[in-house]
Amino acid sequence: MQGLLILSVLLGAVLGKEDFVGHQVLRISVADEAQVQTVKELEDLEHLQLDFWRGPAQPGSPIDIRVPFPSIQAVKVFLEARDIRYTVMIEDVQSLLDEEQEQMFASQSWARSTNTFNYATYHTLREIYDFMDLLAAEHPQLVSKLQIGSSYEGRPIYVLKFSTGGNNRPAIWIDTGIHSREWVTQASGVWFAKKITQDYGQDPTLTAILDNMDIFLEIVTNPDGFAFTHSKNRLWRKTRSLTSGSTCIGVDPNRNWDAGFGKAGASSNPCSETYRGKFANSEVEVKSIVDFVKDHRNIKAFISIHSYSQLLLYPFGYKKESPADKDELDQVARSAVEALTSLYGTKFKYGSIITTIYQASGGTIDWTYNQGIKYSFTFELRDTGRYGFLLPASQIVPTAQETWLALLTIMEHTLNHPY
Ligand SMILES: [Zn+2]
Repeated sequence: MQGLLILSVLLGAVLGKEDFVGHQVLRISVADEAQVQTVKELEDLEHLQLDFWRGPAQPGSPIDIRVPFPSIQAVKVFLEARDIRYTVMIEDVQSLLDEEQEQMFASQSWARSTNTFNYATYHTLREIYDFMDLLAAEHPQLVSKLQIGSSYEGRPIYVLKFSTGGNNRPAIWIDTGIHSREWVTQASGVWFAKKITQDYGQDPTLTAILDNMDIFLEIVTNPDGFAFTHSKNRLWRKTRSLTSGSTCIGVDPNRNWDAGFGKAGASSNPCSETYRGKFANSEVEVKSIVDFVKDHRNIKAFISIHSYSQLLLYPFGYKKESPADKDELDQVARSAVEALTSLYGTKFKYGSIITTIYQASGGTIDWTYNQGIKYSFTFELRDTGRYGFLLPASQIVPTAQETWLALLTIMEHTLNHPY
């Protein structure tokens, strides 16, 4: 295996990939609100080039920051001088990336059918797009592929439609990968697609759902960002659009929706990882979904899937007021989390975005909820930070399996509570 590792490192260097040698992920424990504010000051120190994997929230919730090698001493001194506790969560980010590359390389194979497709490894955009074509070809009565738009760099944006007939039936929407580096989400999306084709006609719950409703699944919601995570920078989160007047690239597509757009909980700085964009829906990857939802007019549940932190969230993110359906959403979230935990014991917290994590404006499900889609939820899948965005491929299938149980709970509730 050592040879493979060296090969992949060399290959990375030859291809000009961003390297993360010596970068660490620090987990910061903040004791009180004053310490939260102090850590927020770090966010503004642009020269440190910090990457907040888990942003400052309330006292007691951890903050995870990837610190580039040249900034490590400065950050540690900053924290120690202020009596803020931290631990080193990831000693060397590059070594995890090397292991991931090695694993992908070792499990490479060309699938001729979705039965031989390897669900337990990470795949490139091309492989995932080929998978969609295979699945649609194998199940022409159930699965079709729609193109809802083209990305900023011109890649097709695809959605898989699972339908057993009818005309504009009430529908469930699921998307994965709007933040491109959250690789376990796209990988889970692939697994969900296969699962739906396997279970229709077998599992009574899914069969009842699909006999009455359609499911739309967008697996690669940010294709430019995803391609970039493979070719250049594994930790890319945003879109790849250019902003005039800045050399920084990309907009956070989960701050770009027309719900509390521009309020606190997003950045106006194009260099920030949470840059909201110049105006709502500026990102074609967002606008394509907005147009789809508005044209469809019969979507009843909208589920947007992220990682990491192990959370199931409902609106709102941009304001403190509870949604009108808060009690019902809370009940559904509780049942969904119970179902998820029942499989492997994975613990999830649930609640509204603003109370469970932090204020975030311009987010997907705030917009969908305001459009009248009552069952609007966001997941943050595994883990709680040991590997963060670099979740080992061995956890893909278990993550997808447990998440599926939560999805089924939400979909079944939607079926049984028409509105
Ligand atoms: Zn995310």
